[in-house]
Parts: sequence; C-alpha cells; structure tokens
Amino acid sequence: MGFFDKLKEGASKAADKAKESVEVVRLNSQISAKRKDIEKNYIQIGEAVFQANLSNDLTAAEPAITKSSEQIVALQQEIDELEEKIMEIKDEKDCVCGKVVPIDTKFCPSCGHKFEEVPAAESTEEPEVVPAPTPTSSSSSETPQ
Ligand SMILES: [Zn+2]
Repeated sequence: MGFFDKLKEGASKAADKAKESVEVVRLNSQISAKRKDIEKNYIQIGEAVFQANLSNDLTAAEPAITKSSEQIVALQQEIDELEEKIMEIKDEKDCVCGKVVPIDTKFCPSCGHKFEEVPAAESTEEPEVVPAPTPTSSSSSETPQ
C-alpha cells in the first residue's frame, strides 16, 4: 500500500468524522430548541399560577399546569432520545450516575456500575464459550470395599 492510499484512507476517515460531527451539531441544535420550549412551558405555568393567585383561586391554574407539565415531560423524552442518538454516533453510552463512557465499557470508572448488556455494535462475533471437556474420571465406581 502506497503513501497515497494511506493518505486517501485517512482522508475518508476524516470525512466520516466530519459527517458525524455535522449530525451531532444538528441533533444538539434540536435539543436546545426543545430546551427553550421547556422553558416556555415553565413560564406558562408561572403565569397561570400568577393569574390564578390574582383571582384568589389557585385551582384555576390547574388545567394550564397539567397541560404544560405534560408537554415538558414529552419534550424531555424527546431530548433523551436525541441525546441517545448522539451517543450512538459517538459510540458512547451513559451510566446511571450520569457519566458518559465508551460503548464497550463493562464497569463504570466513576461509580463502578456494572453494565449488563453491551450493545452489539456491529460485531456479531461472540467469543464462543465451550465448556472444557471434563476428563472422565469415574470416581464413584472405584471405591474400594
Ligand atoms: Zn457510573
């Protein structure tokens, strides 16, 4: 393999990385848009409570609170999904403690959490665990009388 082949290989890898980071930027901008929507909903809740308080009936705010809360929950779920996509692109996953670790990590370096399943990322080759054949030593038959 010549120098130029290696150069080309490196360039295409760099192109892949560039594509990845464009996608990550795109997803991140979606996330920040959703975060803004969440803030809007918080403001709406505040306004509803404020208006209800003015009219001495806080229960009047309930429908608005419920509606905004549902939207916040939905938005948060969407953000979670987007963040997961980003981690997939980056070959990362997050631990229960919030630490982001490489996809093939088995134990969290931060909290020691054990990852049960390592998501099979294209590598279908599983190390075949064949139990070693136990030497047939019949122990019970040779008991002297
Ligand atoms: Zn952890």
